Amino acid sequence: MSARQWVRPEVQAMSAYVVQDASGLIKLDAMENPFPLPPELAEELGKRLAAAALNRYPDAAASELVAALRQAFSLPREMQVLLGNGSDELIQIMALAVAKPGAALLSVEPAFVMFRHIAELVGLRYIGLPLKADFSLDEAAIIDAVNTHQPAIIFLACPNNPTGNLFDLDAVERIAKAAHGLVVVDEAYTAFSRESFLSRMGRHPNVVLMRTLSKLGLAGLRVGYLTGTADWLQEFEKVRLPYNINVLTQTAARFALEHIEVLNGQARTLVAERTSLHAALAAVPGVTVYPSEANFLLFRVGDAEGVFTRLKSRKILVKNVSRAHPLLAGCLRVSLGTPAENAAFMDALKASL
Ligand SMILES: *Cc1c(COP(=O)(O)O)cnc(C)c1O
Repeated sequence: MSARQWVRPEVQAMSAYVVQDASGLIKLDAMENPFPLPPELAEELGKRLAAAALNRYPDAAASELVAALRQAFSLPREMQVLLGNGSDELIQIMALAVAKPGAALLSVEPAFVMFRHIAELVGLRYIGLPLKADFSLDEAAIIDAVNTHQPAIIFLACPNNPTGNLFDLDAVERIAKAAHGLVVVDEAYTAFSRESFLSRMGRHPNVVLMRTLSKLGLAGLRVGYLTGTADWLQEFEKVRLPYNINVLTQTAARFALEHIEVLNGQARTLVAERTSLHAALAAVPGVTVYPSEANFLLFRVGDAEGVFTRLKSRKILVKNVSRAHPLLAGCLRVSLGTPAENAAFMDALKASL
């Protein structure tokens, strides 16, 4: 009569995604934008939300939000757009759609943990190929694995999480050419990155681009978007649950996109903070900090456990990624905060080494 008798063994073998308790701490663990909406905008948003029709189901196609996204991010007219309750849901939708018996999902390691988690959940064979020591793509190994395993779907986050570097987009294009199935370029951090795959999309009908509003300052809304050819997106549309973007999210996201210059300004501030924090970390003996095109920095300290615990006792919460993959031994990941939070982090770090 117990759950163990009925729940699929692969689900029983999984562990739930753990979110660290951040109460009372400076939260630098989850790549959130540290800046709230300016008060006058928050007030205007309140009025919009108050007028939203909560008694009605949301617009199932979220057409006005889609139009606002197309406009704000200059998405090519000929591409379709599909929305997810965060890009996490888009990963799940795509994985569910391709999960034939024996099909494989390929990604690199270390990478975003949801690729593997969702592969296991939907019964896709997971293939995780290690990055090189400098966290760049091992292009030859990937193309080899593509030919051997013929994965239905390949996930590459550009920039990558948790390493922060942007992969060589020419290499991504060569992988897309070699791929038999779909390649998902995950640009969760595009607001902080020099380069996007968007302008290369037209050359690769088997590439879809996945982005999110989370890292740009709207993590609480849960809006991810996917853009690509109708060939793929019309199939994914069938997997999406009809009302996955709720009324309050559609209203708030449309409002935020009307003021996209505020969010873009915050992103520029964070990019400037990244430069100073990178320099500050690089100047500390015993710390190695890696290049980043995202709103976080990966750094190596040796005793990651100890430093993590001492930072936490000084009210700073970062992410301990040191046990996530051998390439990350001794590594911690810190999201960029406000200038004051970053200064507090640096003080606490120096006292914690
Ligand atoms: C944060 C993150 C996501 C998930 O974003 P949501 O839209 O909040 O679900 C996807 N991919 C990568 C690489 C991320 O770091």
